[in-house]
Amino acid sequence: MIKLLVTGTVAVDSVETPFGKKDSLFGGSASYFSYSASFFSPVSLMAVVGEDFPDEYRQVLEERKIDLKRLQVLAGGKTFRWKGKYGFDLNVAHTLETQLNVLQDFSPSLKDDRDVEYLFLANIDPDIQLRLLDEVHHTRAKLIAVDTMNFWIHNKKKSLLDVLKRVHLIVLNDGETRDLTGEPNLIRAARKIQEMGPDKVIIKKGEHGVLFFDGKYFSALPAYPLESVFDPTGAGDTFAGGFMGYVAKTGDLGFDNLKKAVAYGSIMASFVVEDFGLDRMRRLNNAEIDNRLKSFKTFSTF
Ligand code: AMP
Repeated sequence: MIKLLVTGTVAVDSVETPFGKKDSLFGGSASYFSYSASFFSPVSLMAVVGEDFPDEYRQVLEERKIDLKRLQVLAGGKTFRWKGKYGFDLNVAHTLETQLNVLQDFSPSLKDDRDVEYLFLANIDPDIQLRLLDEVHHTRAKLIAVDTMNFWIHNKKKSLLDVLKRVHLIVLNDGETRDLTGEPNLIRAARKIQEMGPDKVIIKKGEHGVLFFDGKYFSALPAYPLESVFDPTGAGDTFAGGFMGYVAKTGDLGFDNLKKAVAYGSIMASFVVEDFGLDRMRRLNNAEIDNRLKSFKTFSTF
C-alpha cells in the first residue's frame, strides 16, 4: 500500500520576478508537492526526467527521504522545462515557454503496487493523469485530488473533463477556475465544478487566501500575510503538498480536519515564496511550521 503518491512534473525552470532572475532552477509541480508533503507524511513521487537531470536536484529530494523509485530517467531525453515571468502582481504567472520534452513519452505505471491511499495528480498532461487513474485501485483510495493550469485547460479540455469525473477534489487558482467554467463569480464557478465531478473544490486566490467547498459546506481562509514575497513559483503545489500531507498524516476526512489541512497548506505556501525555488523550504523546520500556524490561528479567528 502506497500512503501518498504524486505524479506531476519534475522540471528545470527559468524564473523572472521584479526582484531578480534565475535560470536553471529546480522546479516542477511534483517536486514542490513532494517536498512540502514530506514534512507530514511519507510520499512517493512518480515522474519522468531526461538524462540531463542534474544529480544535485535528485539530492534535494533525497534530503527529505522522498521515495524516488518511481522517478524514471528516459535515455536520450531532455527534462521538462518551463520559463515564467511575474510582474508586480505576483499572483499572476506569465508563461514564456513550455518545453514538454520527456513528458511526451511518459506513461506512468504502478505495476503490482496499485493500492494507493492518497493520490495527488499534480499539474501535468491530463492524459497522463487519466493513465494513472486507470492504474490505481480506485475504490480503495481514500482521497484522489487533482491540480491543473490554463495550459491544459486550453489544450486538453476534453481529457481534463474526463479526469474531473474520477476525482474527489480539485485544487485550482482563481484565474484557472474562471477559465475552466467560463463563470466570473467564484462561488458559482465552484458549484459548476462540483457538477463536473469533484465534491470538494479548493480555489486559491494567492495573497487573498483560499475558498474551500466540501459538498454543501464552505469555508474561507485568509492567506498568511507576508511582508516580502520573493518568488511565487511553486506556491500552489506547495499548498497542495501541505494539504495532502496533513490529510495523509491524520487520516481524517471530516470537514473540520480538512479545514485544518487547508491552513497547513497555506502556511507551507507562505514559506516557499520567501525565496527562489525550493531554497526557503530547504531551510525550513517543523518548529517554524508550528509557530506560524499558531500565529495564523490567532489572527484569523474571532
Ligand atoms: P505553481 O505552483 O502553479 O507556481 O507551479 C509552478 C511549477 O509548475 C513550476 O516549477 C513549473 O515547472 C511547473 N509547470 C509549469 N507549466 C506546467 C505545465 N504546463 N504542466 C505541468 N507543470 C508545469
